[in-house]
Amino acid sequence: MKKNISSIFDESGCLGERQMMDYLHGRLNEKEMHALEAHIADCDFCNEALEGLMQVKNKEQIPVIVKQIHRQVHRDLRARRLRRRKVKMYIGLSFVVIIILVILLIAFLAEYYTIK
Ligand SMILES: [Zn+2]
Repeated sequence: MKKNISSIFDESGCLGERQMMDYLHGRLNEKEMHALEAHIADCDFCNEALEGLMQVKNKEQIPVIVKQIHRQVHRDLRARRLRRRKVKMYIGLSFVVIIILVILLIAFLAEYYTIK
C-alpha cells in the first residue's frame, strides 16, 4: 500500500488530515476523488468528519480544529489508561491488606493457643 490510489488513506483505511484538506480545497485528481468518495460512502466516521469540516467557514482554522480534536482524543485515551491503572493498583492494595489480615489472624491464633 504505497504509491497507489489507496495511499491517500492512512493505515486505518480512513482519511488523514491532508487528504481531507486536499479534498476541501479541490486539490485531488479524479482518481483520488473517486477513491475518497467511495470511502466516505460507507465510512460514517470520515463522512461526518468531512461534513463537519465543510461547515467551517474559515478554512485556515481547520488545522487548528483538527489539532484540538486530536488532543481531545489523546486526553480521553490517557484518562482511560490512568483509570485502568488505578483499578489495578486498588486490586493489588486489597490483596496486600488481605495477606496482612491473614498473617495477623495466624499470629493471634498462635498466641491464643500457646497461652492455653
Ligand atoms: Zn474512514
